[in-house]
Amino acid sequence: MDIIVIGAGIAGMTTAYCLHAAGHRVCVIERHTTVAQKASFGHGGVVLPTPLDTWFGPALSFSSWPAWLGGESTRMRVTKSMLGCSWVRRFFKQPSAEQRLAHYTRLKPLIDLSSMTLAEIEARHAFEFEQRTGVLHLFRQASELKRVAPALSFLTQHEHSYQVLKADECYSAEPSIPPQQPLAGGILLPDDRSANCPLFAKQLKQVLEEAGVRFLLGRTVVSIDPTRAQVELEPPHRRFEGDSSTWPMHELETLTADAIVVAAGAGSLPLLAHAGVHLPLQLMQLHAITAPIAYEERAPHLTMVDTVRHITMVRFNNRLRIAGAMIRNHRHQTPSRSDPKLRQQALAKVAHAVHDWLPGVIKLSAGSYWDGKRLLSPDGFPLVGATAHPRLWVNLAHGPVGWALACGTAKALADKLTGRAGELDAETMMALSPTRF
Ligand SMILES: Cc1cc2nc3c(=O)[nH]c(=O)nc-3n(C[C@H](O)[C@H](O)[C@H](O)COP(=O)(O)OP(=O)(O)OC[C@H]3O[C@@H](n4cnc5c(N)ncnc54)[C@H](O)[C@@H]3O)c2cc1C
Repeated sequence: MDIIVIGAGIAGMTTAYCLHAAGHRVCVIERHTTVAQKASFGHGGVVLPTPLDTWFGPALSFSSWPAWLGGESTRMRVTKSMLGCSWVRRFFKQPSAEQRLAHYTRLKPLIDLSSMTLAEIEARHAFEFEQRTGVLHLFRQASELKRVAPALSFLTQHEHSYQVLKADECYSAEPSIPPQQPLAGGILLPDDRSANCPLFAKQLKQVLEEAGVRFLLGRTVVSIDPTRAQVELEPPHRRFEGDSSTWPMHELETLTADAIVVAAGAGSLPLLAHAGVHLPLQLMQLHAITAPIAYEERAPHLTMVDTVRHITMVRFNNRLRIAGAMIRNHRHQTPSRSDPKLRQQALAKVAHAVHDWLPGVIKLSAGSYWDGKRLLSPDGFPLVGATAHPRLWVNLAHGPVGWALACGTAKALADKLTGRAGELDAETMMALSPTRF
C-alpha cells in the first residue's frame, strides 16, 4: 500500500520504519526541515516507563497530588473551574495505587513490545544514540519512599530488577549527589535506560531514506480528506501563519495514498478536527534545560529522577538534560499564548532541581531552555489504530512516555494496517483504539 505518515517525531519515524518493514511504500511529511524537533526533541531521556513513573506509579497517589500540582513543583494549576471540566474530573478519578498499577499492567504488553522492537532496531542497525544504563529514583521523605511499596511488589512480580537504597547507599551509587541534600533513600533500576530520542530518530531517517522512503520536509499538511486518503500541503518554503483556511486553494499541493497515519503530536488535533475526528485529548506543556557539564568530577553517571517532583536529570555525552515541570494547556492553545508567568515558574523549578541535586555541575548560563507539548488522553493510554474512517489512522497521545513506547505502538499499528496478527492481544489493541471514547 501507499501510506502517508504525517509528522516526523518519534511516533512518525517509528511508524514509517515499521510500515516500510511490513512492505509498504511510505511518504513522511514533516513541517520542520529535519526530524524530531517538537516533543521528541526535548524528551527527558528515560526510555521506557516503570510503575515508579509519575503517571503510572503510585508515587503520586491522590494524597500527594496537591503538593505536586500547585505546591512545590507548580506543574499544573488546578482551579475550581478546571474541576468543573469533565476531563479533569476523569483525570482525578485514577487516584489509588491499585488503579495506577492496574493501568500499568494493562500497558505492560505494549511496554514489552516496545522494548523488543527497539532492541531489534538497535541490533539490526547498530545504532549509537547515547544509551546509558541505570536509573536512580530519589526520595527526600521516608513517607514518599513508603508510598511506592506497591510499585516495588509489582516490579518483583514481573522480575524487573531493582534495589532499594538507603541514603548513604545512594551517595555511594551516585557520588555526584551532594551529601548535604536531605535524602530518605532511593530506588535503583540497574537495567533501565536513558537515551537520546532525536539522535535515534535521525539515524532511523538515514536508514529509511537509503531504503527508499520518501521524506517531504519543511512541508505542512493543511487538511486531510479521510475518505479519499488525500492530504493538502502548503506550498514549499512558505510558512503556515494562522488559520489554514486562508491559503488560496490553487496554491495547495495534493497527495493521495491508500491510507494516512496521523502522528503529528500536538499538531494532530486541528488536522483531525478538520477531518471530522474529534478526540478528547489534552495538551501538557513540559520544560527542559540542556546545559554543558562544567565540572566533570561531579557529573552523574546514572540517570537521576526526583520522583515526587518528577524531574529527570539525564547525561547525554558532555551535556546534562533536566526535564519536567508540567503545565496543562488549553486544547488549542499555541505556545505563544501560554501563560508566560507559568512558563517562567516551570523553568525556575527545573533550574531549582539542578541546584538541589547537582549544584555547580552544569554551566546554566550556557544552557538552552526548551518547552514542548505532549498529548495526553483521558485514560492515559496512547491512541493507536484506525479512526472511524477506515483509511485514516493515528499513532499519538503517548503522554509522558512516548520515547520508546512509540516503537511498540508503531509495530502494533503496522501489523494491524497490514492485516497481520501482531504481538498484542485483542484486549490491549482495544484499550489503544482511537474509537474507544
Ligand atoms: C520535556 C519533555 C520531557 C519528556 N520526557 C520523556 C521521557 O523521559 N521519556 C519518554 O518516554 N517520553 C518523554 N516525553 C514524551 C515524549 O517526548 C513524547 O511522548 C514523544 O516525543 C511524542 O512524539 P510524537 O512523535 O508523538 O510527537 P512530536 O515529537 O511532537 O512530533 C510530531 C511531529 O509532527 C509534526 N507536525 C505537526 N503538525 C504537522 C502538520 N500539520 N504537517 C506536518 N507536520 C506536522 C511536528 O512538526 C512534529 O515534528 C517528554 C516530553 C517532553 C516535552
